[in-house]
Amino acid sequence: MAGPEFSGPAFCVETVLCAESISKSFDSNKVLNGVSLTVERGELISIIGPSGCGKSTFLRCLNFLEIPDEGTVTIADDSIRRAGGAWKASDEALAHRLRAHVGMVFQSFNLFPHRTVLDNVMLAPRVVKKVAPSVAEAEARELLAKVGLEAAILRYPATLSGGQQQRAAIARALAMRPDVMLYDEPTSALDPRVAEEVLEVMRALDREGMTQIVVTHDIHFARAASDRIVFMDGGEIIEIGDPDEMCDNPRDPRTRRFLGASS
Ligand code: ADP
Ligand code: MG
Repeated sequence: MAGPEFSGPAFCVETVLCAESISKSFDSNKVLNGVSLTVERGELISIIGPSGCGKSTFLRCLNFLEIPDEGTVTIADDSIRRAGGAWKASDEALAHRLRAHVGMVFQSFNLFPHRTVLDNVMLAPRVVKKVAPSVAEAEARELLAKVGLEAAILRYPATLSGGQQQRAAIARALAMRPDVMLYDEPTSALDPRVAEEVLEVMRALDREGMTQIVVTHDIHFARAASDRIVFMDGGEIIEIGDPDEMCDNPRDPRTRRFLGASS
């Protein structure tokens, strides 16, 4: 009789994003000091920490919206290593490739104001990936239905609620078929009821297996929805762990103080 099989795909974890020793200074202000994080496919990671501790800068370094001074970022199979020195055109080409794996959602939605919701979602696949208009439109309609905006596809961003705009921004990011979605405080500009619509979209994506990294002040969401929580302070990752464990029993005094003040 054959023994148990432990090598099947169901047991494999696949690393989709790996950041190693990311450092970043703005002039003499060292904002990130050797931050490393490995994320498996399908994980939902919440990054928490005090204002100004480097959360946004770290998220932006992951897709080279901010160029790290040092460190390596690998997403899917593309990798960029920085070891100081000048930023070169060949680095820019690599960063461009890396960004193709990543969807980014900002606190302030950042939709194109003079385009309909449908056009917002179709634009990047059309322009960047040269997807045929009929195909791009069909995919955009499907994504907009998924985020609950099928009735709003021909409206302009300014006529939508903040929650609708944010869901449109998520659909737009998904249209590029990213390996990872990054969110920087996606609900901070929204009132709690509307924020919940956005969080529900993120939970649904999690159930579908999307890999997501969220910078958030919403400790309740971080605890309930994440696979792991990352606590940052002073440009470093202080603690990474299971949400319940970290919230109930933070190991580091800085985590304890932050969670105590946030609850
Ligand atoms: P967080 O998202 O945790 O609030 P940030 O990453 O936005 O923190 O900022 C970390 C530090 O880096 C802050 O001191 C901030 O003022 C500084 N900083 C962020 N972006 C820039 C920039 N483009 N130029 C100069 N300083 C910056
Ligand atoms: Mg921030």
